[in-house]
Amino acid sequence: MDEHNVMADSNGQKNAARRFEVFTQNANLAVAALRKHSADRSKTAMIWEGVNENSKTFSFFDLERLSNRTANVLKDSGVNFGDRVFTLMNRTPELYAVIPAVLKLGASVGVLFADFGAEAIRQRLEDAGAKMIVTDTANVGKIEEIFEKLPLLEKVLVVGDWETRDDFYNFDERVKNASAEFEAEIVEPDDNCFLIYTSGTTGLPKGVVHRHAISERLVETAKSVLHLEKDDFYWCTADAGWVTGLCYGIFAPWLLGFPILVYEGEFEAQKWLELLEKHQVTCLYTTPTMLRLLRNEMGDLPRKREFSLRRIYSAGEPLNPEVIGWAERVFGAQVFDNYWQTETGSQIIANRPSVPILRGAMGKAVEGVHVAIIDANGRELPVGEVGDIAVKPNLTSLFKGYWNFPEATRACFRAGWYITRDRGKRDENGYFWFVARNDDVITCEAQRVGPFEVESAILVHPSVFESAAVGVADAVTTEHVKAFIVLRKGFEPSQKLAEEIAAAVRAQLSPQSTPKEIEFIAELPKTKSGKIQREILRRKGNLDKDKVFIIE
Ligand code: AMP
Repeated sequence: MDEHNVMADSNGQKNAARRFEVFTQNANLAVAALRKHSADRSKTAMIWEGVNENSKTFSFFDLERLSNRTANVLKDSGVNFGDRVFTLMNRTPELYAVIPAVLKLGASVGVLFADFGAEAIRQRLEDAGAKMIVTDTANVGKIEEIFEKLPLLEKVLVVGDWETRDDFYNFDERVKNASAEFEAEIVEPDDNCFLIYTSGTTGLPKGVVHRHAISERLVETAKSVLHLEKDDFYWCTADAGWVTGLCYGIFAPWLLGFPILVYEGEFEAQKWLELLEKHQVTCLYTTPTMLRLLRNEMGDLPRKREFSLRRIYSAGEPLNPEVIGWAERVFGAQVFDNYWQTETGSQIIANRPSVPILRGAMGKAVEGVHVAIIDANGRELPVGEVGDIAVKPNLTSLFKGYWNFPEATRACFRAGWYITRDRGKRDENGYFWFVARNDDVITCEAQRVGPFEVESAILVHPSVFESAAVGVADAVTTEHVKAFIVLRKGFEPSQKLAEEIAAAVRAQLSPQSTPKEIEFIAELPKTKSGKIQREILRRKGNLDKDKVFIIE
């Protein structure tokens, strides 16, 4: 990897890499995920559900061959070891062949959300020095707009009905004519595989570089956290543009030989429920936002459908205890919150079948991962004290660094720890509790209030769909809590309702945590992966002053 991307603790990484006896041959993630399972030609790798009620099943053998053809096309088009290749496409079946194909060449793959605008795409491709992008007819217009501004971008491959012209090639034709044999490049565990741009709540997006060694933790956590077993049918709803979709939506199940379910369309509650029933999904991996949306749509009625859900996993945001209770009642499944980030590459704290679930806590450190709450000097804090959530850098799935950004990489490490920039605490039984992103902590009368506990307390009120708590400057108390609240169907904003909700929070928490202002809004601003963007709400202050209610 380039000099400028070397991460701070290279010793930890080297030691970790040495543990990879399994990779004496070839550490290539794509080989371990596809080729390994393709000998049995009937073994299913993907069930793809289209938006037009069309459905297709692909075996590992099918995807191995399709990704070989794709790898041959990419190679002929000039992609070499170490290059960066991006995808910008809807969730069509081809996407799930292109991603492993890039890895087979020893290049890094960057998956972009299909609904990114042209400027967001340009920034990422420019930063990465991308050589090629695979897109589809629905999204190619955005690449046409920016192609001239990207001198390093040599070719564009277009999936679908497309006539080749200039540097924009028809993908399907070339793949059809390519050989289905391809010898994957030999890679070392430390060679790059993913380049994932984080949404960047502040500043420009940064490219998180991952190594093929990531597979070790994906295998471990697919076993110990997701607990995938023979009769499971697993569905991770995350888009591959988000690390969860890439790592746990595709590779973790494939590495264990489990099929993935892909739904081409966007979230639609009834469709999701239909898919859960149709495929008798036993293990679902999704986000708190999606669970709240399902709750909003389904209400608390006893289930009418025949679900087989046994385990529901949630990550990406704090999971409110109220939502856990709802999902358990309605689906009769256990609900496991788990914590990690793009940079950690795999789950590091988790509720899981081997650990009793503690509602509201993120769970315990995953086996083999050293997580701690530390202070500014890197010292581990005692039970109950709030500090930085940190992890030892010998985690094999930890990122190598931010692409082209050594200062930002270095800033993530302190006294032998990788710092997540999240605040949390640990209790006497070893459970970790999320407090807030560093930037989201609210200071009221010298008390530090985490938005998550306020939002969870608000959600207990039956009128609330979801909420975001932020700090507002206050001459007396430094800051006070303001809550932006989205109501459930059938409820209207009013002073009385605002006071009722505030009273519910006061009864559960403290006066400092109780909102002094409540603003009812239609929807919360969110990132592509569904995270609430509290900084936007903080910056904007009041969105609509007629909907702001002051709590006396
Ligand atoms: P990303 O890298 O986009 O997956 O975002 C990672 C961030 O999401 C973390 O640093 C946390 O701020 C947040 N996050 C992820 N999982 C959880 C969780 N279980 N509880 C609370 N916050 C979470």
